[in-house]
Amino acid sequence: MLPDNLHKIDPEEAIQRVRALLSIDDMLEEEELAVRDVVRAFVADNVLPDIDKHFEDKTFPLDVGRRLGSELGLFGCALPDEHCGTGASYTAYGVANQELEYGGSGWRSLLSVQSGLVMYPIHAYGSEEQRATWLPRLHTGEAIGCFGLTEPGSGSDPGSMRTTLRRNGDHYLLNGAKAWITNGTVADVAVVWAKDDEGKVRGVLIEKGTPGFTATDEAHKFSLRASITSNLAFDDVVVHEDQILPRRSGLGAPLGCLNQARYGIAWGAVGSARYTFEAALRYTLERVQFGAPLAAFQIQQEKLAWMFSEITKAQLLALRLGRLKEQGKIHHAHVSLGKRNNVWMARECARKAREMLGAYGISGEYPVWRHMADLESVYTYEGTHDVHALIMGQAITGISAFRASS
Ligand SMILES: Cc1cc2nc3c(=O)[nH]c(=O)nc-3n(C[C@H](O)[C@H](O)[C@H](O)COP(=O)(O)OP(=O)(O)OC[C@H]3O[C@@H](n4cnc5c(N)ncnc54)[C@H](O)[C@@H]3O)c2cc1C
Repeated sequence: MLPDNLHKIDPEEAIQRVRALLSIDDMLEEEELAVRDVVRAFVADNVLPDIDKHFEDKTFPLDVGRRLGSELGLFGCALPDEHCGTGASYTAYGVANQELEYGGSGWRSLLSVQSGLVMYPIHAYGSEEQRATWLPRLHTGEAIGCFGLTEPGSGSDPGSMRTTLRRNGDHYLLNGAKAWITNGTVADVAVVWAKDDEGKVRGVLIEKGTPGFTATDEAHKFSLRASITSNLAFDDVVVHEDQILPRRSGLGAPLGCLNQARYGIAWGAVGSARYTFEAALRYTLERVQFGAPLAAFQIQQEKLAWMFSEITKAQLLALRLGRLKEQGKIHHAHVSLGKRNNVWMARECARKAREMLGAYGISGEYPVWRHMADLESVYTYEGTHDVHALIMGQAITGISAFRASS
C-alpha cells in the first residue's frame, strides 16, 4: 500500500525544492543574478502568457521583443563596444538566454541572432561608421537585424554558397538567395554573406527596401512557429564599398559569428530543459493512476532523476564556457561541446516529458510539445549535432572528417 501522504505533495512546493537543489546561485556574481531576476520577471509577464497562442498562430510579437533592447538592454550587452556594451559579463548574457528559453526557443533566437549574428559582425568586422550607424539602434531594438548565410543548396557546408558579390564599375552587384533566415522579413538590416570576384567570402549590410532585395516568410514550418523564418532573394542589388564589412573576409568571418550565437544556445537550452522538467514533475505529482500519483512509480522517478542529472551537468558546462569566455580562453571546440551537449540534453528532456504527460504531452495546454518541436530547429541550426561532433573530432584528432573520402 502506498501511504496517503503521497497524494498530498504540493507540486509547486516540489518545484521550489528542486529549483533550490539545481541552484548555482553561489557561483554567480550579484550582477548576473540581477540579470536573471529581471529577465525571469519579463518572461513571466510578457512571454509565458501568450507564447502558445503565437506558436499556434505562427506569429511573433516583435513590439514586445524590441523591449529586450529598449527596457532590458540585452541586445549586444556583453560586447566590448562603446556603442552597445553595457559591461555585462558573458555569463550574465548566458543567464539571460537561459531565462528567455524557459519561455520559448523563439525568444532566445531573437536575442541570439540580434546579438551574436548581427551586432557581433558589425562590432568585430565593421568600420567605425558602420558601428556608429547600426549598433546603437540594434542595441535598443529600434532596428532589427538578420543574418543570411544558409542557402537553399548550402547548409552545413557554407563554403559551397552560390551568392555572389561581383564588381561592376564603382560598385558591386549582389545576386543569390538565402534560406531559413530568422527575422528576414522584419529586419531593417541584413548581414549577408557572399563570394567576391576572388571567391573570398565577404559580409555586406543590406537595408530593408533596397531595390532588388526581397524577403518572404517560410510557409510550411512545424517548429519554431513563434519566430519569424524567411527566404531572402538578391537580384542585381547594388552594393557600395561602405556596405561591405572591411575588417575581415573569408569563411572564418561568418563562422566567428556562429560561435557567439552557439554560446548563447548552450545556455538557452538549459532553460528549455528546466521548463519541460518542471512540467513533468508537476504533472506526475498531480496525475493519479493505479491509486497513486505517477511520481510515486519508479519508472517515472528514473526519468525525473535523469533530467535532474543532465540539467545539473549542462548548466555547469554552460557556466564553465561563460568563465572561459570571460578569461579569453574559450576554444571553438568548447562552444561546440556546449551547443551539442546541451541541446541534445534539452531535446531528450522534452521527449521524456512529453512521454510522461501521456496524451496531454501533445496538448497546447501543457506546452511541452512546443518546446519539443522548437528544439528540433535548435538541434539543426547553428551547426547540426553531427557537425559539432565533426568540429570536436577535428580538434581532438587533428583530422578533418568533413569531406567524404573517395
Ligand atoms: C528555424 C530555423 C532558423 C534558422 N535561422 C537561420 C539564420 O538566421 N541564418 C542562417 O544563415 N541560417 C539559419 N538556419 C539554417 C541552419 O543554420 C541550417 O539548417 C543548418 O546549418 C543545417 O543546414 P541544412 O538544413 O542545409 O542541412 P544539411 O547541411 O543538408 O544537413 C542534413 C543532414 O546531414 C548531416 N550532415 C551534413 N554534413 C555532414 C557531414 N560532413 N558529415 C556527416 N553528416 C553531415 C547534418 O548533420 C544533417 O543531419 C535556420 C534553420 C532553421 C530550421
